[in-house]
Amino acid sequence: MPSGFGVNSTILDLFCSKYDSTVNIEQLYSIYQQHRSVQTDTRKLKPNDIFFALKGGNFNGNEFAAKALEMGAAYAVVDEAAYYTVPEKMMLVPDALEALQQLALRHRKQLNIPFLAITGTNGKTTTKELVSTALAAGLKTYATVGNLNNHIGVPLTILSIQPDVEIAVIEMGANHQHEIEGYCKVALPTHGIITNIGKAHLEGFGGVEGVKKAKGELYDFLRANNGTVFVCNDYDYLLEMAKGIPHIVTYGKTEADYVGEAVTDSAFLGVEVRGDSQVGFIQTQLVGAYNFPNVMAAVAVATYFKVPESKIGPAIAGYAPTNNRSQVMQVGGNTIIMDAYNANPSSMKAAIENFAGLKADKKVLMLGAMMELGEDSIKEHEALVDLIKSHPWDAVVLVGGDFKNIQHPFIYLENSAAAAEWLKRQQLANAHILIKGSRSTGMEKVIA
Ligand code: ATP
Ligand code: MG
Repeated sequence: MPSGFGVNSTILDLFCSKYDSTVNIEQLYSIYQQHRSVQTDTRKLKPNDIFFALKGGNFNGNEFAAKALEMGAAYAVVDEAAYYTVPEKMMLVPDALEALQQLALRHRKQLNIPFLAITGTNGKTTTKELVSTALAAGLKTYATVGNLNNHIGVPLTILSIQPDVEIAVIEMGANHQHEIEGYCKVALPTHGIITNIGKAHLEGFGGVEGVKKAKGELYDFLRANNGTVFVCNDYDYLLEMAKGIPHIVTYGKTEADYVGEAVTDSAFLGVEVRGDSQVGFIQTQLVGAYNFPNVMAAVAVATYFKVPESKIGPAIAGYAPTNNRSQVMQVGGNTIIMDAYNANPSSMKAAIENFAGLKADKKVLMLGAMMELGEDSIKEHEALVDLIKSHPWDAVVLVGGDFKNIQHPFIYLENSAAAAEWLKRQQLANAHILIKGSRSTGMEKVIA
């Protein structure tokens, strides 16, 4: 592996000094080292887990702390004195979430391995899965499980990393400023990827410039800490944002360190890796040319970390998306592209343009509304309607949200149940159907 992944201890000391006063972190860390498993949910508790009593909108984890011990937890961290009932097996701290984050940082200090952080508007999980799958072909890799990318998921991910792991891949999500900055202070990434900057969570970010600033906090951290970034150089704005970062590795269509070409003969994306690389052609199980940068990120990262090139292609080709992320299904003689995991203006545009380019006899669009767009919502839904109008379709169905509040010539239905009914009535055969929408529109229910 390339050298220079050691974490700068001065920087670590700076971060840690901020926390030293409140929690006996060394005591907590030695308990952690005996058990190496942390849990915040009693329903998922295993014997010998360390239970952290976190608070949510509708629950107070402190109320479950004693029960967690009864269920076999080795230890419980609580932050309300009333629930500090078993002192020999409990630690009372000012804030259990903060203690969890401090413990994660303490563990991260112990792990002298590269940490690759992945953020961006779209494709974080897909990129994380592809990158970690490719890395795992040569290195003992630990990656965020599923979508555990928030203030609880990031520390839990770090605390799941066992001492023999050689590289960690951490997904970081954000819907407001300073969130990524906070995650970086706990994960201390040595490497980073911003997949792209697009329109999502505009409410919380305050427009696209706000998104750029928020995601850019990963680049800021790496710039200040002698880090390395993998940048898709098809996106000028990313190159611009990455200026000043000590080590920049690029991937993309042309003039990059790792160059590839998207092959879109079938519904599934192929990627021909060019240049000196021995990776060759990769037939992926991913739909949509917009997955090209996600695949190239995996090629670049795995090659950079010296995974044998002959193993990279097969690893990426073996990855199939789950959880309604651009999955292709054959249902009742029709081909369904199920992309109901989420939607925002940029991923809608990518999915629709990709679908428009697909060769098929009959094409149907069934789109749920986009949420969390704040004051831009109406404008963005109107822009989407304009985009839809610019391509030919056999039918277009728009479902719920602000599709109700704008003018359009298409079929409008209240919810996904009505959309399911509509689809059943059409008795379609040999059609290609793209189903996409924000999570809360539940568009996956159209195919029940
Ligand atoms: P979340 O914010 O929920 O964690 P994410 O960033 O992890 O989302 P994924 O779960 O990987 O994103 O993908 C969700 C959807 O985003 C996909 O089904 C696809 O529609 C779209 N998508 C994936 N990659 C890209 C990309 N590079 N550009 C545009 N859209 C993409
Ligand atoms: Mg994700």
